[in-house]
Amino acid sequence: MSSTTLQPHQRELFGQPIGLYILFLTEMWERFSYYGMRALLVLYMTTETIGDDRGPGLGWTDKEALALYGWYTMLVYVMSIPGGMIADKLIGQKKAVLVGAIVLCLGHGVLVLTDVWAFYTGLGLVILGVGLLKPNISTMVGGLYKEGDIRRDKGFSIFYIGINLGSLLATLIIGLVVAEWGWHAGFGLAGVVMLLGLMNYLYGQKYLTQVGNFEYDKNDENEISYGQLFSKLFSSPKQLMIAIVLLLISLYGWYTLEWGYGLLFIFLTVVVSLMMMIYKELNTQIYKDRFLVLLISFIMVIVFWGAFEQAGGLMNLYTESKIDRVLFGWEIPTVMFQSLNAGFIIIFATVVASVWAKRKLKGKEASSLFKMALGIIIMGFGFLFMVFAAMEFERSGTSSMIWLVLAYLFHTIGELCLSPVALSFITKLTPVKYASLMMGVYFAATGLGSKVAGIVGESASDFGEYTVFLGILVFTVIIGSLFILILKPLKRLTHGAEDNERMMHTDETEGFELADPDINN
Ligand code: GLN
Repeated sequence: MSSTTLQPHQRELFGQPIGLYILFLTEMWERFSYYGMRALLVLYMTTETIGDDRGPGLGWTDKEALALYGWYTMLVYVMSIPGGMIADKLIGQKKAVLVGAIVLCLGHGVLVLTDVWAFYTGLGLVILGVGLLKPNISTMVGGLYKEGDIRRDKGFSIFYIGINLGSLLATLIIGLVVAEWGWHAGFGLAGVVMLLGLMNYLYGQKYLTQVGNFEYDKNDENEISYGQLFSKLFSSPKQLMIAIVLLLISLYGWYTLEWGYGLLFIFLTVVVSLMMMIYKELNTQIYKDRFLVLLISFIMVIVFWGAFEQAGGLMNLYTESKIDRVLFGWEIPTVMFQSLNAGFIIIFATVVASVWAKRKLKGKEASSLFKMALGIIIMGFGFLFMVFAAMEFERSGTSSMIWLVLAYLFHTIGELCLSPVALSFITKLTPVKYASLMMGVYFAATGLGSKVAGIVGESASDFGEYTVFLGILVFTVIIGSLFILILKPLKRLTHGAEDNERMMHTDETEGFELADPDINN
């Protein structure tokens, strides 16, 4: 077929569907607004109410601000579960992304106002907006490729560059805007940028006609609503017992910790119950096994983000107080070190993706599970440099910034082995009807990881940074290695979901062969 007879959604650019670039740009602007806002949040909350050059803040203590920050960054991702469910059963991913983008524009718009009610309302809207947009746009990327298409992993790597381009631009620009025009200009900029994302998405609809459409049919007897699924719990004694035990633990958590944790645990109990019921409902052993291995891989996800997310917390504070940040006579502001991760991603994303693609073509080990486990180990080794930094501090009262740069480099390579790969893996393993929900569960796992990171980070005030960094290094390397040890049985559970990936399209520039497009497992 010549390119002139192709429909817009069939057209390609650099060997990838054009729809990928539409989703890339939408997500880039969304991540700009998210990371821009995230960078300002704690600073705004802790600035005195009488204010400084940037205008008045909320006058909160560090502890209060960090507590809200922890809940906020967790909730944006946990809300991906309802966001995914709404897409699966009510409106489809494409509309969910649209509604999410509109809600995000409203949220950032409200944050321009200076009242406290506007602050809470704005954050609430951002949480809802991200919950609707983030998992579903990622599932849509997967939907651009047929089962077995080898371009999928690379597509996710490109998409991941978009995420980090947004994050990089935000961390570089938004601080300058706030310094010049104040807090609310920064919040406003996030809103304007999100509006660009929305417009780009609307413009790009013609390239996305084949993906993210609502496919749930209430009247189809093979379809089942989440409500029906959940109610089946009461006629499944084994699963009900597990759910009751989890509920009791949640209630215990409510009384011994704080009500927020109680609610979170109850929510997780509902999610686990739903997962058990989906597992039971899946009609072939292949689907059941794939679902199981996906859930097991989420353990790696929690471990990974639980360590990685020290970046914004403990490592950030360490940078501020213990790293010698002076370069050629200029003291680099602490926040600028946050751009290293996004910058390294942009530099290395395609390199890492190509390494994997080449390995795969040569028939060497390149399964997603292997990459994810290796990602944990590589990221874990990044903490070795933080251990060196802490040792240097003990000796000389300061740490060189090279340790930090090396740590972020390893963290980023680890992230590239795990994060885009995990997104792609989910879209390969999940039956289409649960695709958005499982993407939501994945993001919720990353959110839980962030919460764990906060708790681990806080423990540094009792044990010291050296011990915490060393502990993370040892723990992550052990967990990653354990997963590599059990790789074979785990891979068996995927039932070859990744074994048949082949070139499924012609790309004259690279001379790929045209494979049978109906290839299936
Ligand atoms: N940094 C990535 C993003 O913003 C991953 C975040 C996550 O999965 N928690 O999309």
